[in-house]
Amino acid sequence: MTTDTTSSGPIMGDPGPTGRFGDFGGRYVPEALVPACIELEEAFRGAWADSGFRTELDGILRNYGGRPTPVTVCGRLSDQLGVRVLLKREDLAHTGSHKLNNVVGQGLLARRMGKHKLIAETGAGQHGVATATAAALFGMECTVYMGEIDTRRQELNVFRMELLGATVVPVTSGSRTLKDAVNEAMRSWVASVADTHYCLGSVMGPHPYPWMVREFQRVIGDEAREQCRDLLDGGDPDVVVACAGGGSNAAGIFAGFADDTSSELVAVEAAGGAAVTTGIPGILHGMRSALIQDEEGQILEAESISAGLDYPGIGPEHAHLADLGRARYVAAGDEAVLEAFQLLARTEGILPALESSHALAWVVAASASGELPAGSSVLINLSGRGDKDVAQVRDILRGRA
Ligand SMILES: *Cc1c(COP(=O)(O)O)cnc(C)c1O
Repeated sequence: MTTDTTSSGPIMGDPGPTGRFGDFGGRYVPEALVPACIELEEAFRGAWADSGFRTELDGILRNYGGRPTPVTVCGRLSDQLGVRVLLKREDLAHTGSHKLNNVVGQGLLARRMGKHKLIAETGAGQHGVATATAAALFGMECTVYMGEIDTRRQELNVFRMELLGATVVPVTSGSRTLKDAVNEAMRSWVASVADTHYCLGSVMGPHPYPWMVREFQRVIGDEAREQCRDLLDGGDPDVVVACAGGGSNAAGIFAGFADDTSSELVAVEAAGGAAVTTGIPGILHGMRSALIQDEEGQILEAESISAGLDYPGIGPEHAHLADLGRARYVAAGDEAVLEAFQLLARTEGILPALESSHALAWVVAASASGELPAGSSVLINLSGRGDKDVAQVRDILRGRA
């Protein structure tokens, strides 16, 4: 069986039964989880080929989720930077980010599989809130695993999940953060797989998750491609930029452009968690990918101003796109991110999520340095809205005043 997905077929296509993207991906799980992963892969393959499933999903994303999200041409910001800035407005989707696309897809798939319980991991709580939202929508039970430290740091999101009817389980093993919450969710899935679907939050984990989650997020790129053609006289943007934690919003927007445009693709990681530029290949959470780790192979804690980018790795397809040179991986530091957050607020009246502000920060720096030539068109995936970050930004800025 071939594991090479690059020699033929689309760059961001179906990785086949091995789930490998070049040297990355795969399915490194305990034996007890292999049947669950295979069942899920087959169910997803069937659903994705079924126009009835696709139509139902599109309908929910439209009438409940607020899709299609618009592309906004930023006049004042473009004047200031000297490049033409367009924003794909995932901040306007229900619950305020792209995460809804994935959880609605997985919720609908779980229902099709006859499963009536959802479990999920969460770091800052955003994916937990999204999963609890989908569970409420579909009338499913929901349990969210969250590192004990994170439950204290993100009390309001714990309360949000509870309002939505979910149970939040604090995880006390290991470093008591996101990495440990993923481990606990996987352990719980082994024990409950008959009636439970594990709704994983990004393009990571064992096959089929990286592929499936990318396909559920592809709607961002497919819409944006069409919308840009209307706005750019039939052309594609010169550059498409997205922030990357696990990498799902980046994979979703890249998927619309990777194969048949010459748009340059840029993913911006948090400088304190830059898996592609500073990590090394390793195995974690069921996948082989780029991970930040020490010389003994111990996984390091990612550190970033934005809680949503604190994953110590990145999805395997990103490690592969970097190897291929089809996408570029860069990093933005907290200081530049805070500046970008304020810049978009003042020039366009939009408060971006701190995660999304990483993408913006790179565009600001690259237009100043000339790396982005004057007049280039740049599509930024505005993955989420910044309301959730306002108190944190206030505390940082006031602490300095
Ligand atoms: C969770 C989140 C991210 C990071 O997740 P990816 O899988 O890398 O997209 C980015 N932006 C926002 C707004 C988020 O909520």
